[in-house]
Amino acid sequence: MRAMVLEQFGAPLRLKNVPVPKPGPNEALIRVRVCGAGLTVVIMVATPGRIAAYPRIPGHEIAGEIVAVGSEVRTFKVGQRVTNHYYLTCGHCRYCRSGRETLCENFRGNVGQGCDGGYAEYLTLPERNLVAIPDGVTDLEASVASDAIATPYHACHKEAQVSPGDNVLITGAGGGVGIHMVQMARLCGGRVIAAEVGEEKMELARSMGADEVVDARRGEIVKQVKALTGGRGVEAAIDMVGNSETLSACLASLAPAGRMVIIGSKPKSVYGADPSFVVNPQEFMRQAQEIHGSRYVNNEEIIRTLELVKHKRIRAVVNRTFPLEEAEQVHELLRKNAIAGRAALIVS
Ligand SMILES: [Zn+2]
Repeated sequence: MRAMVLEQFGAPLRLKNVPVPKPGPNEALIRVRVCGAGLTVVIMVATPGRIAAYPRIPGHEIAGEIVAVGSEVRTFKVGQRVTNHYYLTCGHCRYCRSGRETLCENFRGNVGQGCDGGYAEYLTLPERNLVAIPDGVTDLEASVASDAIATPYHACHKEAQVSPGDNVLITGAGGGVGIHMVQMARLCGGRVIAAEVGEEKMELARSMGADEVVDARRGEIVKQVKALTGGRGVEAAIDMVGNSETLSACLASLAPAGRMVIIGSKPKSVYGADPSFVVNPQEFMRQAQEIHGSRYVNNEEIIRTLELVKHKRIRAVVNRTFPLEEAEQVHELLRKNAIAGRAALIVS
């Protein structure tokens, strides 16, 4: 089969012919139709130590069709269309059993990092990771829904707890996850203040429902946010960028009792700059604010996200698609922050 393979740390993705993998007893073999490509993959492959063994096939936002199942698989059948949860978990620990599987005590890494992923014509996935794609949702929509739309579902609903009437600041609102965060925060009843750089992303945020768009190049995000909220600040600030500047701006933009959510991550090992930010404990306590770390979703949240897509409550924003063999060019565009909305590889 054709696959885009990483042969060693730091190497570019190369198109190779490799054997079709065989599913284990608890796994399914999937013919990949579409695989999303975003910063998560780019950061994953560039962070030293994340991939323990090479060669490795990345890609974790998969949509495809089951072509074979292992002897122990009971809940999925050949021919079914599926997408996936991208954490490799045990299913038995306290976190897995309480719907917090992203905190699994026996975590084995992510799809595309701990095992081969979807930048290939076929991959195997554990039955536990599979989520059926409902009728009325395309493969392209489902692939993006499994991470770039599901992540906003958890972040807005569980962490930021966006309620009708809340002002919600979203930094990096025109990116692959951010553009769906804008829609999700609106769906939860929020008034969205989107911060972005570049006309294309600012315009995309506006067109997908942002009530206000703040130009982050002008600096002074906090001042602009305060001006738009009568000086009070926002009830929720969701940071998709994750550098010390945006994190500090989100914290300083919060109203009393405001919730800040950290999702974006710009590790120093990849970006060179330290993303730490300062919290003034006295001020933080006095204002009774909250900082939440948001880690992906559970399986049920992917199911709900797919329902939202099916019923047209959220639109999958995939502005650019590419053939599988152009994966390295897509990563280069993502590194340059040059893709508005999500990108996806059309595999077969
Ligand atoms: Zn577990």
